[in-house]
Amino acid sequence: MRNLKQGDMGPDVMLLQSTLKKIGFFDGEITGDYGEDTTLAVQNFQRANGIRITGDFDVATYNQLEKYILGYALYTVNEEDTADTIAEKFGTTVKNIEAANPNTDIYSLAVGQELTVPYGTQVVYTDIDYTYEVLELNIRGLKERYPFLEVGVAGYSLLGRNLYFIKIGGGKNEVFYNAAHHSLEWITTPVLMKFIEDFAEAFVNNQDLSWGYDPERIWKSSTIYIMPMVNPDGVELVLNGLQRDNPYYNDLIKWNGGSNDFSKNWQANSRGVDLNHNYNAGWEAYKERETEFGITGPGPTRYAGPSPESEPETKTVADFTRNRNFRLVLAYHSQGEVIYWNFMNLNPPDGEYIGRALASASGYSLEMASGPAAYSGYDDWFTKEFNKPGYTIEVGRGKNPLPISQFDEIYSDNLEMLLLAAII
Ligand SMILES: [Zn+2]
Repeated sequence: MRNLKQGDMGPDVMLLQSTLKKIGFFDGEITGDYGEDTTLAVQNFQRANGIRITGDFDVATYNQLEKYILGYALYTVNEEDTADTIAEKFGTTVKNIEAANPNTDIYSLAVGQELTVPYGTQVVYTDIDYTYEVLELNIRGLKERYPFLEVGVAGYSLLGRNLYFIKIGGGKNEVFYNAAHHSLEWITTPVLMKFIEDFAEAFVNNQDLSWGYDPERIWKSSTIYIMPMVNPDGVELVLNGLQRDNPYYNDLIKWNGGSNDFSKNWQANSRGVDLNHNYNAGWEAYKERETEFGITGPGPTRYAGPSPESEPETKTVADFTRNRNFRLVLAYHSQGEVIYWNFMNLNPPDGEYIGRALASASGYSLEMASGPAAYSGYDDWFTKEFNKPGYTIEVGRGKNPLPISQFDEIYSDNLEMLLLAAII
């Protein structure tokens, strides 16, 4: 994170505000605007931590705040400590501490021993712009708190960002959820990230997730692969703007109709390709109709690229899919509260039955895509290629990008669907 001070604006400021709020130093609104209330909160945090009181978010302050951003601290055991007293000190459970220290017998602690201790608050941010940096911080935090989660990098974006995947469970039934093919639809990333956290937490503490889903049973029967941000370069353009060092700097402005504001219209990757039109499913048919849809080349949306899987992001997702045996896939998008299925009427086995069950679990409607959206998407390709059901889930309602204030409602609509899709 860069240094910040009063007058600064942007997602970094939101991350700071949200973290200070989480630990009780800030009670203003999370605006991304470093105003007087943020300065005061930072000063109070600095005072409480015995560091120089500047009101600026500087290196010393970051070093003190980082553990709250990541959601855990390294703790040295002292004489009076037991697992219970440490849990109480951190507002967490003994089971959470146990999970974070898999090779330690936390019931016979030695003085001077170092433990990873998670805080009682959750790691995944659900009230701020969810940038690639936030994604990385949250993945780090989750991996420390729940070392049994498998985290990997499936490939790289055009600009070299990691295409992360997280694996939950060890059962035979493999499913795949991905999010943010479209950059304006970044709200779908924290939906999947919070699902990972809630699942891991419930698993560790032997709790059911809502509606009586037992995470341990799901863990045994299924493996859920999650790729939370398929298009990190696009998400960065939307949330942090076009940076000078972007190798496509001049092209991007041209492809964006001369504007360097990407925050309200940019769905594509850094080369102006709409990743959800870059799969080999009706790709040629779509290509022939591109001009009809008003598409003449790279741009904010709906340009299918020079060939199927021409982009490293789609190639990565397709390879990842080919290398596994997914029973079904969910591709997360916004918006409309709709589940799309059934590419070109292929009607894969169980496709309609599962689609109806997902619709009933979420309250979303089940529909067949039509118009430009009905071609060359990931779920289309999955259905065509494997004759298995793929679904595009369109969360929320309104105009993209949806405000993060819709998060809680979206998440509660989708939680049961995410659980059900893993076992149906
Ligand atoms: Zn979309």
